[in-house]
Amino acid sequence: MEERIGVFICNCGNSLKNIDFPWLQERTASLQGVAYTKISTALCLKDELESMLADIRERQLSRIVVAGCSPQFKGQIFSHAMEQAELASDMVSWLNLREQCSWAHSSNVSEKALSLMRMAVSEVKLLRPARLAEVVINQRVLIIGGGFSGLSVAVELSRLGIRSTIVEKEASLGGQFKDGGTLEAALKGILYALVAEIAGDSNIEVVTSAEVTSIEGTAGDFVVGITKGSQTSRQTFGAIVVAVGRQTGITPEPTSSKVVACRDIARLEQELEGLPRQVAFLTDASGEHSRMGTLSALAGAVAIRQRLGSEVYIFSQNLKVDSKGAEKLYREAREKGVTFVKFDEKPEILSENGRVKIKVRDVLLKDDVVVYCNLLITGEEAGPSQLPLSTLGIRTDDRGFYQEVNPHLFPSLSGRKGVLLVGSCRADLDLARASLESTQAALKVYELLNQNGSKVKVKVYVDPDKCRACLTCLRICPHSAIGMERESGKERAHIYELACDACGECVAICPAKAIEYEGYTDEQIIANLQAIGEP
Ligand SMILES: Cc1cc2nc3c(=O)[nH]c(=O)nc-3n(C[C@H](O)[C@H](O)[C@H](O)COP(=O)(O)OP(=O)(O)OC[C@H]3O[C@@H](n4cnc5c(N)ncnc54)[C@H](O)[C@@H]3O)c2cc1C
Ligand code: SF4
Ligand code: SF4
Repeated sequence: MEERIGVFICNCGNSLKNIDFPWLQERTASLQGVAYTKISTALCLKDELESMLADIRERQLSRIVVAGCSPQFKGQIFSHAMEQAELASDMVSWLNLREQCSWAHSSNVSEKALSLMRMAVSEVKLLRPARLAEVVINQRVLIIGGGFSGLSVAVELSRLGIRSTIVEKEASLGGQFKDGGTLEAALKGILYALVAEIAGDSNIEVVTSAEVTSIEGTAGDFVVGITKGSQTSRQTFGAIVVAVGRQTGITPEPTSSKVVACRDIARLEQELEGLPRQVAFLTDASGEHSRMGTLSALAGAVAIRQRLGSEVYIFSQNLKVDSKGAEKLYREAREKGVTFVKFDEKPEILSENGRVKIKVRDVLLKDDVVVYCNLLITGEEAGPSQLPLSTLGIRTDDRGFYQEVNPHLFPSLSGRKGVLLVGSCRADLDLARASLESTQAALKVYELLNQNGSKVKVKVYVDPDKCRACLTCLRICPHSAIGMERESGKERAHIYELACDACGECVAICPAKAIEYEGYTDEQIIANLQAIGEP
């Protein structure tokens, strides 16, 4: 039976002025195989979408071209509508008339729109029904690290009915937070409440004094080695949440009893009573802004000023108050009389007559400032990451933080599907940010686990007859999504659908041309080019 192609063109509320839509419709209608064309003003809105589905049914259209905005933007709405109407959503070709045509030029682009239309019509003729694969996903989640972020994810997952195992290398839960000497009592209260909630939650298993020593497999089916003492057990999980935090370092390192680390203030509280007349905080001395350094200096300065009435200074290169509540804390510090000194060049720190001398060039005064104090409290800065990289296979940035796919759009997604990153192992985060990310990560895990038993579209496919088992694709895949499987007595590459990110690298590199990217086969690309008169 001859295919009947329907073309639905959207002029985006008449806003794409540099395309002559009636002309485009007329020329499109004359293309071979096109049985129906229609112009809409807002195809993504409910009424027009419903009218499109009615047209498809009534006119028995077998393949569809949607010409409008980017499919990245509204594609899901159309796919969902097609599925709801039990129409084949894989028989649709998208044409981005807005971002890739109208918006990209100021002059009239009707001719370009027609060329793109020709390509879309030729492409839609070659579309094939999607290959589907049933996915089985282990419903347990591994959380590596029992600090604030790991605990938050476990609690969020439990609320969604998902079981998790927290593996913590220390003997107790809590992470940096429990040692954060200057943390406000209210913040510590949140941590203690989390620990208590976890203790009574049957969905959460806690393994302390243990470490993850190996990770194999892919999203949905990870096999993990967990070592506690001399025993190693191999357990399976559907997803892994990495919440190992950061080691922190003190810059500069305390060299005398008069120079202490910020995290030690709480322990020093007794000794501080009645002492000291002048106290100075030093943050971002290494040149790297640190949120936790800033927060702990501000909270500490306010506390000391309030409790001991000391003269308090904060020396800082760049005091950024972008954490929740930090601006308020900064104002409070100013109102309570804390003095801020901004420097560009590293301060000179010396011991003189039992006191600490800090000499620095004040950027704002444009003069040298010398302060003698009884106590210098040095700042907390991020140190190297804690999990051996080889175990995870995830890249780090130049500061040693695990790198996410996109820090703005997908902060918790790592480059390896099924492995999520939360908290301060990913960036210099305060608690409010770490908490938000934990919720996002829990939802991403839920999304993944929820696909269990469903059929997903295979985007990238290895033809077993063509594969020569050369392992080139396996070595190059950035998402560790390819494995070798034995089929009819022969080794063949296999792509795990859930792990594959559809980046296409393996398709391009396979020397046997055994891998196909759905919708971008050589045949389809050549047909596209021929449609616009290219050889
Ligand atoms: C001194 C100080 C003061 C701070 N003050 C504030 C403040 O006032 N306000 C604020 O919002 N934030 C503050 N912070 C930041 C806050 O503590 C962090 O945002 C928070 O701790 C991040 O939690 P996390 O779980 O991501 O990391 P962490 O708390 O570092 O927890 C990581 C956990 O993972 C475990 N782990 C590490 N490696 C492994 C491994 N290989 N296997 C198993 N487990 C592992 C660690 O033992 C630890 O328990 C401060 C931090 C410090 C250090
Ligand atoms: S690169 Fe091609 S031929 Fe080599 S293993 Fe992968 S699919 Fe098979
Ligand atoms: S398209 Fe190929 S290289 Fe890219 S993630 Fe999928 S399997 Fe790996």
